[in-house]
Amino acid sequence: MMKCQEFIFLLTSGQLKEGSAVLKSSAFMHRMMCRRCSAFYHNDNTLAHQIDSCKKFLQQKPGDDLNEPDEK
Ligand SMILES: [Zn+2]
Repeated sequence: MMKCQEFIFLLTSGQLKEGSAVLKSSAFMHRMMCRRCSAFYHNDNTLAHQIDSCKKFLQQKPGDDLNEPDEK
């Protein structure tokens, strides 16, 4: 089984997104079996989403819709 260190490296370096199907499935299996990496994966996704929202908010020009980011 993939080690935690390897999983975290692949995730945070972006190599997981571009990896092979075998690598992705191996990482998926690890995430399903390891609660720490599962929690890290979840936190990483949440953080990335929030950073993206902040970026969009900061890039708004005056006169653009001034709603909060991601308000639907
Ligand atoms: Zn792990």
